[in-house]
Amino acid sequence: MIENIQPKILKRAFATIVDYGIFYALIFFLINQFGVLSHDGSKSIKGIEAFLIPVYWFLYFPVCEYRFASTLGKLPFGLKVFSEEGKQITFLQAFKRRIIDPIDLFTYGIVAFLAVKFSQNHQRLGDMFANTIVIGGEALRCINCNSKLSLEANEIIDNSYSCPECEYNGKVKA
Ligand SMILES: [Zn+2]
Repeated sequence: MIENIQPKILKRAFATIVDYGIFYALIFFLINQFGVLSHDGSKSIKGIEAFLIPVYWFLYFPVCEYRFASTLGKLPFGLKVFSEEGKQITFLQAFKRRIIDPIDLFTYGIVAFLAVKFSQNHQRLGDMFANTIVIGGEALRCINCNSKLSLEANEIIDNSYSCPECEYNGKVKA
């Protein structure tokens, strides 16, 4: 049985920080390279460079998650996006789970955190809208040797795990 989802919520938070970090690094780069200095000394971007920002947001996440079920932030934590039925997501689903991101962004991730923590399938609002789930990193105790292991997304989908301690092959859900 999966016993603890707390580490997974942390992993999702860190994954988000990495992905948002890349996004903000891109904005920083664009403003630095193409920004126009205004009277108060600040720089701002216009036109095609400014247009790249939302384009990046609505391409990077959907393309990565559709193609690899993951992003640069999620990958190191073993997190993957699947449909609620445990299938590979469609591009439309990948796109839909981003449409209401502004709600998460403008609430500094608080709405996302609460939704993930308290909803039954640990979904963000975008996940609920797109019928997607993020899996991987769930903690489980091996029923053979009782050591604690972290499940890979594929192990949850296949409902079977291989214990690295005792090499026992068990089921995720009995
Ligand atoms: Zn074991």
